[in-house]
Amino acid sequence: MKFIDLGLDQRILEGIDAMGYETATPVQQQVMVPILEGKDIIAAAQTGTGKTAAFLLPLLHRLITSPHQSGDINAMIIVPTRELAIQIAESIEGLSYFTDVSSIAVYGGGDGNSFTAEKKALTSGVDIVVCTPGRMIAHLNMGYVKLKGLKYLILDEADRMLDMGFSDDIAKITTFLPVQRQNLLFSATMPVKMRELAKKILKDPVEINIAISKPPEQIIQKAFIVYEAQKVPIIKDMLHSKRFTKVIVFCSKKQNVKQLTAELKKVKLLVEEIHSDLDQKSREQYLQDFRNQKTNILVATDILSRGIDIDDIDLVINYDVPNDGEDYIHRIGRTARAATSGTAFTLVSEKEQRKFADIEELLGLPVIKGKVPDEFGPTPEYAPKKSSTRNNFKRRK
Ligand code: AMP
Repeated sequence: MKFIDLGLDQRILEGIDAMGYETATPVQQQVMVPILEGKDIIAAAQTGTGKTAAFLLPLLHRLITSPHQSGDINAMIIVPTRELAIQIAESIEGLSYFTDVSSIAVYGGGDGNSFTAEKKALTSGVDIVVCTPGRMIAHLNMGYVKLKGLKYLILDEADRMLDMGFSDDIAKITTFLPVQRQNLLFSATMPVKMRELAKKILKDPVEINIAISKPPEQIIQKAFIVYEAQKVPIIKDMLHSKRFTKVIVFCSKKQNVKQLTAELKKVKLLVEEIHSDLDQKSREQYLQDFRNQKTNILVATDILSRGIDIDDIDLVINYDVPNDGEDYIHRIGRTARAATSGTAFTLVSEKEQRKFADIEELLGLPVIKGKVPDEFGPTPEYAPKKSSTRNNFKRRK
């Protein structure tokens, strides 16, 4: 599903484009419509599925298209940790870049200056507040937080909040909020305690359960932990080894597809590219050439990761780490179809380690790390940081 089909405001579509998202992830496809319709939601969805944008996009759309109080807080997103608060605030900044929506992250552990800055925003009003429960209560107890116009409450990673003992804090925060509001709850798991909390907060919610598919077991998955500059030489080496007969290399961005294809053509590999800048006719021609073995390597964006019927691919290379876990599963699922075996390699740069760790979490097990031959020089350690460096948004001036 394309974002444009959802009727999102043009300014938000521009933000989506700047973030590099092309199609909606499964969780986005399921939750955005009911949110746009104003319904309460309870959604079981893990990190790595695109759940943040799933609630931010309809929220931003509703904020900019329906009248709202600019001197008030319109939406509150409560999250368990300051890292998540920062990460969501970054996503808001990216997705709302072409709108005038304001936001602030409010979390504990900062100095007196940050408390004063938060107080100022909460007193004068800000469209969206992303907060950790304890810090929000500290502000609420002082009485200056402008909440009369609040229309949206979002609880993200609600199961972690319960595990961390924030249940009473959340209940207390809700006593400060107007009763007429839309409530959205996202949680990776749905224990009984969660249902009890949901009953107290949500009104007649739409329940959404995103079943995470698992990759077929016969796929050998390996990740190579590398520096960005090592990716192209390593891929050339993998492709020259001739151990594989039909290969798809996935890149998240069309620019990378074009650049990599050009590099591979330079070294006389039989390669073509597939991305949305090509017309349908050329795409079909390149696919046909690949099927007929005129070429044996396709470099493609995720438009090729779903629903393309080519059976005998023996290697999938992820030039970069896909943006969400479902894309990873779809990409590597291009190999090992029809019960044959297949191999999937993923090149993980330093910046992508966090994103890859999220995918491993989604898969429920770590992916084997392959050894990079010494000739390519030293490689980084695999030490994914807890804090987010995942946001691939680049500012457009
Ligand atoms: P989340 O599950 O919200 O933590 O998102 C995981 C990652 O997927 C983040 O890096 C997002 O920027 C990215 N992402 C979210 N939606 C999309 C999409 N529709 N297409 C590509 N990447 C996405």
